[in-house]
Amino acid sequence: MKKNRIRQFPSRFKHICLMSTPWPLFKRPSIQLGSLKSFLNNELKDTRVDAACIYLNVAHATGYDVYQAISKRTWPAESVYAALLYPERFDAIEQFFRKKMHRNQVLASVDFRELVQQAKDATDAAIKQINWHDIGLVGFSVCLCQLTSSLYAVRQIKKISPDIITLFGGSTISNPFCRSYLDVFQDIDVIVNGEGELPLLRLLTHLEKYGSIETAHTIDGVVTRGLSPKLAHVFFQLPHLERLATPDYGDYFKILGTFPPDKQFFPTLPVESSRGCWWQGAAIEKRTKGCAFCNLNLQWSGYRQRASASVVHDINVLTERHQTLSMAFMDNVLPAKASEKLFSELGRLNRDLKMFAEIRASTSLKTLAKMHSAGMIEVQVGIEALSTKLLNKMCKGTTAIQNMAIMKNCEALGIQNVSNLMLHFPGSDEADVTETLQNLDFAMSFRPLKPVNFWLGLGSPVWQNPRQFHIKSISNHPHYHTLFPEHVTKNVQFSIQAYRGDQLRQRKLWKPVEKKIHTWNRFYADLQRQPSAGPILSYQDGGRFLIIRQRRRNTDPLQHRLTGTSREIYLYCSDIRSIRSIKLRFPELPGDKLMLFLKMMIGKGLMFEEKGRFLSLAVRV
Ligand code: SF4
Repeated sequence: MKKNRIRQFPSRFKHICLMSTPWPLFKRPSIQLGSLKSFLNNELKDTRVDAACIYLNVAHATGYDVYQAISKRTWPAESVYAALLYPERFDAIEQFFRKKMHRNQVLASVDFRELVQQAKDATDAAIKQINWHDIGLVGFSVCLCQLTSSLYAVRQIKKISPDIITLFGGSTISNPFCRSYLDVFQDIDVIVNGEGELPLLRLLTHLEKYGSIETAHTIDGVVTRGLSPKLAHVFFQLPHLERLATPDYGDYFKILGTFPPDKQFFPTLPVESSRGCWWQGAAIEKRTKGCAFCNLNLQWSGYRQRASASVVHDINVLTERHQTLSMAFMDNVLPAKASEKLFSELGRLNRDLKMFAEIRASTSLKTLAKMHSAGMIEVQVGIEALSTKLLNKMCKGTTAIQNMAIMKNCEALGIQNVSNLMLHFPGSDEADVTETLQNLDFAMSFRPLKPVNFWLGLGSPVWQNPRQFHIKSISNHPHYHTLFPEHVTKNVQFSIQAYRGDQLRQRKLWKPVEKKIHTWNRFYADLQRQPSAGPILSYQDGGRFLIIRQRRRNTDPLQHRLTGTSREIYLYCSDIRSIRSIKLRFPELPGDKLMLFLKMMIGKGLMFEEKGRFLSLAVRV
């Protein structure tokens, strides 16, 4: 029987298609597809791998503004293709979409039915362009907001080519319960749990040999209906990342090249310097599991990073190949120690790069400055809270004063800091909120943080230890019940979870913080609107004296002059300093005088203090 299959099918698996469906950011090629394609092309020289970023076709069809607005919101994004998957639920889904989007500037006036039709037409057309009868396997990278669109696309492909082997993988699917997707979605044949490179490589070799997935569950990381659900969590990942080649984004650029000139743009190219999270890795040894709310690393085991030379090589090759200079690091968090070396080497490329990355608040000014001089213009810092007590509950391993320092350093260097402040974290209390409100007064001169409400991620430490966070019960998020029929929601454990706990109390508790962030936004925007705005709190150093300028709304700035030792102390506290180190540095100054000065600075909002550690807040102009 097997021998017949070998004769019948072998060449089909010499041609495979990797697919990414809406709604990833349309201005970026998919790194998942680009990396996998390069890897497979390197390992299987005679196999053709197509990388179909069909989200770009859909973005073109819906209009970039509409696509972008949808891609920023998980539930509206999942609604569009849910309406196609389950037409009998159309009205309920449409109502849900409208409710979610009625205040959205771009989407409030969008006709949902028309939008669904546009998405359908563009997806169907992109699928029809591919000759499926030549292709043995199609693999979907399913990350945030891509579940329903992938389910729709796989259904359409199976209609055209019923024998094709269909595979789902990616961060939405990778979790200990991934086997349940096979139970309810008959169009999916195989799931890859964890990183895709090695399982897919082994699977293709297996298919070449046997022509079917019957025994493919013997490959680690490959989950089929033949595998016991209990064994679905075994990973098979690259021991180190040096086997990764430069991502191949050629197919994405081919699609872009077919658009009319006024729809062309310069994409941002994703690169990766690590997989996993070093903070989570370090924390595991201490028997906690990284940040309590985080489930970003379910598809990796441990932390791996690439040599800086390989990353620089990728950036060099990609910018040359595609003649664009905008890059985004896709690392969950940039490597701690290696970043300085990496960005020094990148600086030597002598390219006017524009880069984005996610970093931890503990990143030093020296490293941040290296990043900036290499072209880092925007960062998302893992700030999350401005209360150290709350940061401890979140297992962030950082403090409010560290967060204040990195916000200041971004402001000083002119790096856009697009970070979040998490509200409603379960178990947070009055003291956390009070501390946040007090510290917000000192943060007003820096770019405002974006308030985001806590959500429960499947597999996160909070999800694993609910009682510790006052959580009584956990279930799928109720919105899934609007999008999917009961037999699906009953059997699949989705990546976004709901819980019964202290939500009501949290919503009340955090109201004043929400209000204050609103004021902060207005304050910052008003002052930045002024001509030649510059930093809100800044200083000029005159050598033996220092002038601090504190800009205010609707009135002249306050100016403060510091001379002699006062100037020196202020400059010394540009980095976080303990009272002990300040005393050691200025032994001639009596302790009471020093404290008086520091308290005066804090009273004027020019310095921040936390548990005997001090930080000057003004940035040098
Ligand atoms: S939030 Fe960031 S730093 Fe924290 S565990 Fe997740 S990836 Fe790591």
